[in-house]
Amino acid sequence: MEQTYFRKGFGLKKELRHLIDAEYHSALVERIRSRGYTDRFGDVTVRLAQEFGFCYGVDRAVDYAYETVHKFPDKSIYLVGEIIHNPHVNQRLTAMGIRFLYANGDGRFDFSPVTADDVVIIPAFGVTLHDFDTLKKIGCILVDTTCGSVLHVWKRVESYARDGFTSVIHGKYSHEESRATASQASQHPGGTYLVVKDMHEAMLVCDYIAARPAHLSREAFLEHFHHKASPGFDPDNDLRKIGVANQTTMLASESIAIGIKIHDALVERYGLEHIKSHYRSFGTICSATQERQDAVAEMMKHPPDVMLVIGGYNSSNTNHLAHLCQQYTRTFHIEDAACIDVETGTVRHKPELSPTAPEVRDADWLPPAPFQLGITAGASTPNNKIGEALLRVLKIRGVEPELEEKAPSMT
Ligand code: SF4
Repeated sequence: MEQTYFRKGFGLKKELRHLIDAEYHSALVERIRSRGYTDRFGDVTVRLAQEFGFCYGVDRAVDYAYETVHKFPDKSIYLVGEIIHNPHVNQRLTAMGIRFLYANGDGRFDFSPVTADDVVIIPAFGVTLHDFDTLKKIGCILVDTTCGSVLHVWKRVESYARDGFTSVIHGKYSHEESRATASQASQHPGGTYLVVKDMHEAMLVCDYIAARPAHLSREAFLEHFHHKASPGFDPDNDLRKIGVANQTTMLASESIAIGIKIHDALVERYGLEHIKSHYRSFGTICSATQERQDAVAEMMKHPPDVMLVIGGYNSSNTNHLAHLCQQYTRTFHIEDAACIDVETGTVRHKPELSPTAPEVRDADWLPPAPFQLGITAGASTPNNKIGEALLRVLKIRGVEPELEEKAPSMT
């Protein structure tokens, strides 16, 4: 029988490595890295976070997408959503002939264009059980790039559901990964979940669990979590046994704090002696997200004058890196080098954490005197995009490093 499900690539990695490296490599970034992550250009001292940019899951997903194009040159290739949250990588895949399927407002995908003759790539965030089953039924070739760290969370959610625990997932329900993770609860009949986006929402849950005086009424609770809970969710029954999990790219410190609050609320309600039958927790922040956040925390022990955080505005882990840095220094989250206008010396950036917050333009963002520029980038930002952004900052200061950034080849 012909194999139609692939999770391990096609053995073309070595063959394509030079192409991928040429498209996403930055000589400037490599120079700074090789000099101990700090380098001086004119009056700008650049400090690069010790962990930044492409993570292992993104590396793998991008490799598989390139391999798929080379393996199936005559087939229509679709991608469910975005391979990762980086507009340039996604544009590049479009140029290679990959067609993107986008979800509607409810997060549902329309797979009607896909036939059994086609190839469908599942992105690093994974897809919901419902979407996976739909694609299996179509009978197309599936190239599954779901990251191992996401699968690790899925296993936890599945085990919670199996043992009668509700998964309380710290994540954004609008994010593909959180929806896919939540859907794992339905692997077992009666499996339940609730997605909380931040500490404020977690406290609504905690107050309800512990029946604290100001807790929401049952109706208000259901209304608030209407779109973020499993069908038929009953807070009076489904908050008795809770397993905590999270979207892998959330702020690790917030996920941990939320887990502790839920634990404490369950202790308040059922007593410490019974907590083991009411609460479960496993660290499900991926190591790449953790390392990028730790690297920024390390840098912020001696904050640079200006911090540049580069990555898609809809990239969860990039937004969290920017939010972390904002607490210590002037921080500018930019999507790419085009946000920096060399002519006017201005920057367009997103100052708020929300992925949909508007951009603002700042003219007065680089200090007049010699200064330190810190740089980091989200897990979906390739090095060439970091290099291009830095080149523009240096150009504003009249510095031209003796390095040429390679423009991506479109062949
Ligand atoms: S951020 Fe983590 S979970 Fe997401 S793709 Fe990268 S390694 Fe995997």
